[in-house]
Amino acid sequence: MKRRVRVRTSLCRALRAAVLAGVATSCATHGAPPRVAPSPSAPTPREAELPSVASASPIRVQIADHGSRRVVTLDIDDYVVGCVMAEIGVYGLPPAVAERVLEMQALLCRTNAVANRGRHAQDGFDLCSGSHCQIYRVPDNDAMTKLARRAVASTRGQIVMHEGKPIQAIFHADCAGHTSAPETVWGGSEPYLRARADDFCLRLHTPAWTFTPDRDRLREALNRNPNTRVGHDLRDVRVVARDEAGRASRIELRGEGSVVVRGAAFRWALLQAFGARSLKSTHFTVRRQGGSFVFQGEGNGHGVGLCQLGALARARDGHSAETILRFYYPGIQIAS
Ligand SMILES: [Zn+2]
Ligand SMILES: [Zn+2]
Repeated sequence: MKRRVRVRTSLCRALRAAVLAGVATSCATHGAPPRVAPSPSAPTPREAELPSVASASPIRVQIADHGSRRVVTLDIDDYVVGCVMAEIGVYGLPPAVAERVLEMQALLCRTNAVANRGRHAQDGFDLCSGSHCQIYRVPDNDAMTKLARRAVASTRGQIVMHEGKPIQAIFHADCAGHTSAPETVWGGSEPYLRARADDFCLRLHTPAWTFTPDRDRLREALNRNPNTRVGHDLRDVRVVARDEAGRASRIELRGEGSVVVRGAAFRWALLQAFGARSLKSTHFTVRRQGGSFVFQGEGNGHGVGLCQLGALARARDGHSAETILRFYYPGIQIAS
């Protein structure tokens, strides 16, 4: 385990609470299978499919409401406000820190909107409001939403670009000291998504977590997914490879036979069965204990791209939204 610097201030508690409250519902946090990071074998978008950066035309968003679905047409900045409010919380932060954090998140959400607009064209809308595209919630009219609206207005028309194209602005809640490259998490790569040491999130003590599933329930969870199927038996779970951040990149499942799977695939199978608070990251150790497996880990999310906890700590230190983005996505530009 990495040594953590425990900083006991009310601000730190507020920052942690902000991350936990704001990010906990995000798939970007919890690591759905890659919506980005195309693997070398996956088809890459054709130039004609890439959205026009200049396009600020309204965006059609499918909203799921109490089991029913409807499509609304939104001004892109109204859409970004709803995404910002869904993806990060800034309650309890000093106004100047909150402003920098919200500006950063507005740039991320607008960039993802532009990069992925039209993803659901065949379904009759542009983007869904779930983690598949980007989480969107109809915003309230409270003080935080007003702050978010101001941040969206102050970054109007700006997105994060790499070599003339909008980036896939991937982020997660807490990298626990080192981010990972998509190569070791899902496969595929982007030049602006690299593994980087991040000691800022370590300044805010986040507790290690433990998840202890019963062996039979774990076997059932793994068997629900063809990639992680073990059959009638589950004798052992072993980490056989780690990336430079310490995340389990390859995991051996010994059941009727033996299968080696990506850490992200293993985690995804568990999140589907046990929920978002189960295996919070692939930064864990695992051992058998009686009829259970004990997973002990740190961090929250897949670990690729921007670490929101580190970003909050940087904003608290006075870093601008652009400085923060340049750290987590090296080589990018903010373009209007
Ligand atoms: Zn979608
Ligand atoms: Zn971090």
